[in-house]
Amino acid sequence: TERVFSGVQPTGNLHLGNYLGAIKRFVELQQRFECLYCVVDLHAITVWQDPAELKRSIREVAAAFLAAGVDGEKHIVFNQSQVSAHAELAWVLNCVARLGWLNRMTQFKEKAGKDRENASVGLYAYPNLMAADILAYRATHVPVGEDQKQHLELARDIAQKFNNDFSASIAELGLDEKFFPQPEPLIAGPATRVMSLRDGAKKMSKSDASDASRINLTDDADQIAAKIRRAKTDPLPLPESIEGLKERPEADNLVGIYAALADSDPAAVLAEHGGAQFSQFKQALVDLTVARLSPITAEMKRLVADPGHIDATLASGAERAEAIAKPTMDAVKDIVGFVRRS
Ligand code: ATP
Ligand code: MG
Repeated sequence: TERVFSGVQPTGNLHLGNYLGAIKRFVELQQRFECLYCVVDLHAITVWQDPAELKRSIREVAAAFLAAGVDGEKHIVFNQSQVSAHAELAWVLNCVARLGWLNRMTQFKEKAGKDRENASVGLYAYPNLMAADILAYRATHVPVGEDQKQHLELARDIAQKFNNDFSASIAELGLDEKFFPQPEPLIAGPATRVMSLRDGAKKMSKSDASDASRINLTDDADQIAAKIRRAKTDPLPLPESIEGLKERPEADNLVGIYAALADSDPAAVLAEHGGAQFSQFKQALVDLTVARLSPITAEMKRLVADPGHIDATLASGAERAEAIAKPTMDAVKDIVGFVRRS
């Protein structure tokens, strides 16, 4: 069966990049796939999280999924730490993945920064846990932003190495030789990498110290307007065609955001707005962003005010997720040669 898995970290400051690169796509994929959407709290603690804040953020990410239109009844919305298969499988995959593979991961280098000796072991092993998240459900499709492409490729390599390393055992148990399927990344559309509003060379990120760099899903209309008006641009008017966006990262970014919010594409946006001054285009972008985000923001607020409903959704999701992961985990234990409690 074709199955979608994806996750968002409860690390605070959910932003427009998370929405356009991930959550909005989650909603669209529900029509075509069986979907699991996970609040990945085990990933979040790879960098320090204040415990009270973490709790709040977990519910906020779940609320964002639901407010954006994810159906927690038809599909599965859950919290990673409530399903032990993630951590269990991650350990096995820690023993499959090679140090050399992880040493190439650019996210670790960026997040660890200069003080690498002081980064948590979890931050280093993060991509193995992400592989476990996907493979525990034998998910076939993974919608993510462009920044996660390298981790997805690693997950594919890990799946293949597991299948190869244990091919004899897999055959002996009469299981499919492709025990773990190759998960397909779904990285498409005009907003796979939304950039900072202050710096066209940096991705919009939860952890950017400057709040003006991102539009938060909790921002109100005035905050959105102020941030877009202050967004960095070059002095030229918008180009008439997409070729004119090359070497103009800030213009490219704002046009991409507009296109994604309008369910359109950059060429169509420029057909309408090409030649306009940024002051004009930014006003159109403010109107569109507020129109698209404010219903979501309002619904998030409503949902967070009643954590009972969110917690019940997460509990039901975890139960159903566990039911899918359990047979896979049991098979993994048999394949590896563990003696299971029966
Ligand atoms: P952190 O700084 O804590 O890593 P983040 O903003 O990168 O936060 P994640 O929870 O790591 O958010 O990522 C959740 C999803 O959002 C992933 O699919 C990721 O690829 C996507 N995403 C994150 N930032 C962007 C962005 N700027 N543009 C498009 N997609 C993004
Ligand atoms: Mg990230």
